[in-house]
Amino acid sequence: MISGASIAGPTLGFWLARYGYEVTIVERSKTLRLGGQNLDVRGVGRAIVRMMGIEEQILAADTGELGLQFVNSKNEVEAEFPSNGDDSFTCDAEILRGDLVNILYGCTKDDVNYVFDRFITAIEQDAEKVKITFNDSSTDEFDLLFAADGVRSTTRALILGEEPELKFIGLYNAWYTIPKMETDTKWARWYTAPGSRVMVLRPDNHGTTRASFSFLSDDKSYLEEPDSKQIELLKILKEVSQLEIALESDLKEKKVSLERSLKLSINHQLKPLKMEILEKIPTCPNNMKQCFLQNDMSAIMLSKNSLIRDLPKLESLLTQESSRIGYSLEKIEVAFDRYQQKRN
Ligand SMILES: Cc1cc2nc3c(=O)[nH]c(=O)nc-3n(C[C@H](O)[C@H](O)[C@H](O)COP(=O)(O)OP(=O)(O)OC[C@H]3O[C@@H](n4cnc5c(N)ncnc54)[C@H](O)[C@@H]3O)c2cc1C
Repeated sequence: MISGASIAGPTLGFWLARYGYEVTIVERSKTLRLGGQNLDVRGVGRAIVRMMGIEEQILAADTGELGLQFVNSKNEVEAEFPSNGDDSFTCDAEILRGDLVNILYGCTKDDVNYVFDRFITAIEQDAEKVKITFNDSSTDEFDLLFAADGVRSTTRALILGEEPELKFIGLYNAWYTIPKMETDTKWARWYTAPGSRVMVLRPDNHGTTRASFSFLSDDKSYLEEPDSKQIELLKILKEVSQLEIALESDLKEKKVSLERSLKLSINHQLKPLKMEILEKIPTCPNNMKQCFLQNDMSAIMLSKNSLIRDLPKLESLLTQESSRIGYSLEKIEVAFDRYQQKRN
């Protein structure tokens, strides 16, 4: 009898069945619990899955993560650590916990008797057997009992009479699965914000993104908060982040629109000058002419470079003509500076 159908339970079940035992696994929840984020299958774990013959399946379920990038608040990469060996953040067998549970279940379900929605409520042991009572009041006898039901195992508490002691280290973590966004890539992205806040986004192989949010606090009271309050807190944090993002994108839009109108106005002012220039270059191909007329200042530079042969006088002409129509590069730079200051 094994209690717990997660990682340890089915793995033990596999080996016991392999050596001829009749194995039953009881799982407290109604179905396999497929939640969770990335697990790295390396070291001893890797050797064991190889012996179980499921290493290939695990590699095939890899999340495809290329490595870890540390980004700044603008999502620009400051440093990156590709997946390249045993010690890197991203392992070559980077698998979602749920996928690993599914693989372990798949390779044991024919040899092991799984019973879901069942847990142990009482244990009586003598020299030969262990008599077990389950939550539905049924009883059964087994030769051996293994508690593989996690760190908060109530089975272990039934056997040993106490729960493990947890040591508070002042680190809080929240984990989510969120829709994939345009900015998401095959890299894990780590952003450390002021106030010991850390956000990590990681790609998965299910079309979604795995996200985590952590913060440090000596305040233990969050631990006592009921789930509903913790969820409320996360909602508030989410709203604050959304406000930050909205503000950022609002400023970006304003900048883009300012730049656009500036370009339009420059182009409008330059049109007569451009026409005049083109008249002086009869060899200029038509498509180039169109590009020259329609585009902004960068196109002027481009056209200038490609038509260098025909434009020996362009520089002086531009200076002459631009002062005539009142266009000055300095003025534009001053306008940009002013805008930049306003933004800051
Ligand atoms: C939902 C979930 C998500 C996780 N996500 C991550 C992650 O993202 N990254 C990471 O590194 N680790 C994660 N872990 C932890 C990781 O899976 C385990 O710490 C590690 O794999 C050890 O596995 P285990 O089989 O000993 O125990 P666990 O994985 O903790 O599994 C215990 C199992 O026993 C069941 N159970 C509990 N009580 C009883 C009972 N009384 N009777 C019968 N069954 C019971 C539970 O439902 C669960 O299926 C997660 C665990 C769970 C349960």
